[in-house]
Amino acid sequence: MQIVVPDEYKHLYVQNGERPVVKIPAPVLRQVAGDVTKINKKSLLLIDDMMRIMRKANGVGLAAPQVGILQRIIVIAPDGMRPTALINPKIVVSEGEQVGQEGCLSIPGLYGDVKRAQYVEVEALDRRGRELTYELEGMPARVVQHEIDHLDGVLFIDKVIAETLHWTNPEGSDDPAE
Ligand code: ZN
Repeated sequence: MQIVVPDEYKHLYVQNGERPVVKIPAPVLRQVAGDVTKINKKSLLLIDDMMRIMRKANGVGLAAPQVGILQRIIVIAPDGMRPTALINPKIVVSEGEQVGQEGCLSIPGLYGDVKRAQYVEVEALDRRGRELTYELEGMPARVVQHEIDHLDGVLFIDKVIAETLHWTNPEGSDDPAE
């Protein structure tokens, strides 16, 4: 889907120190990220950076390609869940169905409904390299599916129910973005 950014939203699409998240049409958002083979100090600094950027952007999730790094690392912070980093996340169980609104920090201002699994189990390493399985349902399940898609170069606009797409200024709006 070709997205044309309306003039009044173009200022949200600049990338600088104030707005460090990579925006469409940056090619890095369409590439497949590689597995993290070793969690080192650099990985931990990247995770800290991603957490800070997500918080500052009032996001509920962020994937490493959104900060220009093609590594399989995501951070998620849905309401009611403490911010969590998942390294090499993999969906191993996927059940049910939910339709709900999504936005993306890489496509600021654009929102639309996406069909996702209602419940997922995700295997991942935590920042200390421990293998954990996360059981997520509802909104947290939606966020993790959105972020893992980013690791494969997939954006919510690829899956959105087209007639629900709409622009809303994210500044001063409660609509969360990922
Ligand atoms: Zn996103």
